[in-house]
Amino acid sequence: MILISRDKHVYSFGPNMKPVAKANPGDVVIFETIDALGGQIKSEKDTIAHIDFSRVNPATGPLYVVGAERGKVLAVEILDIEVAERGVIVTAPNAGVLGDIVREPKTRICKINDGIVQFGEIKIPAKPMIGVIGVAYDEEIPTGTPGKHGGNMDTNLITEGTTLYLPVFREGGLLAMGDLHAVMADGEVCVSACEVSGSVKVRVNVLDGKLEWPLLETANAYYLIVSKEKLDDAIKEGVKLGVNALAKANNLEWDDAYMLASLVMDVQISQLVDPAKTIRVKIPKKYVNLDAFLNTEVF
Ligand code: CA
Repeated sequence: MILISRDKHVYSFGPNMKPVAKANPGDVVIFETIDALGGQIKSEKDTIAHIDFSRVNPATGPLYVVGAERGKVLAVEILDIEVAERGVIVTAPNAGVLGDIVREPKTRICKINDGIVQFGEIKIPAKPMIGVIGVAYDEEIPTGTPGKHGGNMDTNLITEGTTLYLPVFREGGLLAMGDLHAVMADGEVCVSACEVSGSVKVRVNVLDGKLEWPLLETANAYYLIVSKEKLDDAIKEGVKLGVNALAKANNLEWDDAYMLASLVMDVQISQLVDPAKTIRVKIPKKYVNLDAFLNTEVF
């Protein structure tokens, strides 16, 4: 088993990332992670107005995966996510969907015990997830921004028992991850979730075939995950890819696949608050297979 400690982390996914560990396809790797605020919020008196933003969104890694080359796909099977017993949620003026209304920065500490996140008196079932997970890209992209390489997708379905497929751009893939959340709802409206440190156990594999955007496989469905500055643009790209996959899997004319999409494909919001917005397009496995998403072109 390979362990990458949390002191080995990056703040951008770019062409100059230097691997800190190496794995073969099929290897199991543990990534220890720091929370998205760089562990700088220690109490409810600390707010994001007072933190060093150069230490925000650390992603542990990167991991070099043997055989991961440009034009292939890195499969990351998420075996286990452990989170610490204490998380933080923050908001601030001009942050989140209603940032224009927020007058002062505010922090809440959340205790996490026995699968429950305690927000004041309110108990919320924990659902640990990975906010930032991605690979090296041809341009330098801060870890706080999502894109084709993954990154800060803040998609609450990226959790234990799922497999994330990422397009590979650079040799070795160079996988890094961080920004665990003990729980987060779709949208992440106030700008943060229950931000927490922890560790993630994954199994990595390399597949032949090209992907345009990250793809998540759950027990019952595939989700194309698309991020763009404008929500409408993200939706359009995701729907195009989804229709392509439906056409390929069911051997349909494009117009028929478009109509089928309207019947069986859900468009969902992952997050609305990062530098690019993230949507996901859900297609139940009944109508599509993994192969339908590979080697398709956006037109
Ligand atoms: Ca995040």
